[in-house]
Amino acid sequence: MARPEVLKPRRERPRAATASGPPRAPAGRRGWATRAAVPIAAIGLAVAWWGIHRSPRLNLLLVTIDTLRADHLGVYGDRAAQTRTLDSLAARGVRFEHAQSPVPMTGPSHATILTGLYPPVHGVRDNVVFSLDPRHRTLATLLKARGYRTAAFVGAYPVAAAFGFRQGFDTFSEDFKESPIPGAGAQRPANDVVDATLGWLAAPADPPFFVWMHLYDPHAPYDPPEPYRTAFAGRPYDGEIAFADAQLGRLFDWLRSSGHEQDTVVAVLSDHGESLGEHREVTHAVLLYESTLRVPFLLAGPNVPSGVTVSGRVTTVDVAPTLLRLLGLEPSPEMTGRHLGPAFRGERLPPEPLYAESLFGRLNCRWSSLRAWTAGDWKLIDGSRAELFHLPEDPGETRDRAAEEPPRVARMRADLRAAMARMAPGGDHARTAAITPEQEANLKSLGYVGGSGGGGELDEPGLPDPRDRVQFYERMQIILRAQNIPLERASAEAVAIAEADPGNPFAQTTVASLAYRAGRLSTAARAYHRSLELDPDRPAVRQNYGKLLRDMNRMEDSEKELRFALQQTDASDRRTRSSLAETLVLVGKTEEAGRLIGELLRTEPKDPEALAAQGRLFAAQGKLEEAAKSLAAAAASADTDARIDLARVYTRLGDHARAREEAGAVLTTNPGHPWALAVLGQVVILQGHREEGLTLLRRAEAARPRRPEAWRSLAEGFDAARDGAAAARCRRAAQALRGD
Ligand SMILES: [Zn+2]
Repeated sequence: MARPEVLKPRRERPRAATASGPPRAPAGRRGWATRAAVPIAAIGLAVAWWGIHRSPRLNLLLVTIDTLRADHLGVYGDRAAQTRTLDSLAARGVRFEHAQSPVPMTGPSHATILTGLYPPVHGVRDNVVFSLDPRHRTLATLLKARGYRTAAFVGAYPVAAAFGFRQGFDTFSEDFKESPIPGAGAQRPANDVVDATLGWLAAPADPPFFVWMHLYDPHAPYDPPEPYRTAFAGRPYDGEIAFADAQLGRLFDWLRSSGHEQDTVVAVLSDHGESLGEHREVTHAVLLYESTLRVPFLLAGPNVPSGVTVSGRVTTVDVAPTLLRLLGLEPSPEMTGRHLGPAFRGERLPPEPLYAESLFGRLNCRWSSLRAWTAGDWKLIDGSRAELFHLPEDPGETRDRAAEEPPRVARMRADLRAAMARMAPGGDHARTAAITPEQEANLKSLGYVGGSGGGGELDEPGLPDPRDRVQFYERMQIILRAQNIPLERASAEAVAIAEADPGNPFAQTTVASLAYRAGRLSTAARAYHRSLELDPDRPAVRQNYGKLLRDMNRMEDSEKELRFALQQTDASDRRTRSSLAETLVLVGKTEEAGRLIGELLRTEPKDPEALAAQGRLFAAQGKLEEAAKSLAAAAASADTDARIDLARVYTRLGDHARAREEAGAVLTTNPGHPWALAVLGQVVILQGHREEGLTLLRRAEAARPRRPEAWRSLAEGFDAARDGAAAARCRRAAQALRGD
């Protein structure tokens, strides 16, 4: 691989592009190996230069469109695409024909775009469970320090402020809504994101600005709004792209009409592509083929020539340093990507090898890590076995040449290992949260034995290869989300996958969540337990397990697991704290529960889970008025369980009208909700309408509730109707659920 070159600090305003003349020598570059090699003196010079450079005046607009395959854009050759906005951006700027993301996942890939660092360096290795460490400078922190007004408008949870993406932004807008489609997660559509962005841009303020706008629409599930749904019937993914493109057009219209096209550098790219069934992968995250690694990348604005295509292979690690240079600023010394500007002028890009990784299978399914190394036209994908592709001849990566080219494989493998040693000098590890020594000691005392997941050896030999098992992951995604598959069939299929892939903790949690939904609590508990045996480093799984054990009345175990989970997370994990408080209330440790809840509400007075826990604590202490107040506040944020508990507290207070109102409100949004029916039936009986109430109770019983609490409420209802036999039957049913 190429020899590292020491960064020479220089005062360079990018010149107007001239594509004329013979290709020059490889352009000035940093090379991603430079990080360890930059002498301290050079860093000092760069920092000094950074400090004295005069104020830049150019704005920066960075747009990331999630899950956007390059070859589904008109300008990348898709004749059926409707992507006028991006096609005309390419016409007035530079298009990179071969841009690669180093990781096919939203959070890690965006961390790379913002920091100019490969994932082993910035440390964000998976969505949601990792956070970007503030010690890494981002485009936002660097530009804010240079006097920029900075704002981000993001479209989905994996790039939420909670995961470190907020740093450096004066404004961070993430007004997500929970999608009505199960499993789709919190997001907001492109029209809302663009509205928010335009609102901020239109407000009068001093230049310059840096705006990052993230559109999530092309991400699965593909559900474009009209008229795109009809126009793209049969290919809804392209409909989502057309919708996002049209919305982006509104932002570019503003840029033009406000005169800011002249002084704003615009970059549009994606965080990763989408497999769409190639290589047996449906979406993205698990595999490292070009379907998910290749991304569109377009640049336009001042210092960027029109209508230029760069054919050399580039990576999104190059994005941050290139943008900073286009603004007339120096990248931070830590950034190892190249400045791509010289390529606009026809200079040949140095043949920089590109690194990519997916730890998704390793961290979630205990499969091998996958790492890719692209050097020139050759690409190696290494896991528990190597695959080698010659990209110009075989862009679809269907003909593995590893067996024909053993020396090339060995050479590329050695280069990849050397690159890993430079990026992660102490060995590559993926750690989700900073565990304090005290937490570590507490974990040991709770019986914790080493991490097989994130804390373990990432390149552990002998693990199954994700390329051989991706179909299991895809199938689990489908059965977890699809509403048209009967629960029993989905559960049986999950069990079959868990048997076929016995070391896979994700298969076990899939079994657990489907069993829980089907009301088979012991099966769910056994699967959670097995999942945590396979990977103890999953506090979120442990937290679900602790809640389930509470539902099953296994309070001692619930308390133990939740205390364990608490030691694996930091104070930002509020949910585990609320859940532990709920269990402590039920075992009578009300003082400690009160302390935990108090801490949560001091920092976040409207936290619905803490408010619900507080309501249940007050109810347990007999402080019914206070309980009603807390539960009403929790119920206001659509917490169904809190509303049912509120109805029960009103019942105890003898306020039957209000109890009916709250139970009725649950039934309005969830008709047939058996627990709400049971509570309502009891109230109606207490109001003297025995037959009407019994009808409600029988309806609830016929629905065969899947939660013990609902059976307990039914028993109370039948008691109120003085039907002891039915009450006993319901108590037995609650017990049977707990025992499976
Ligand atoms: Zn993404």
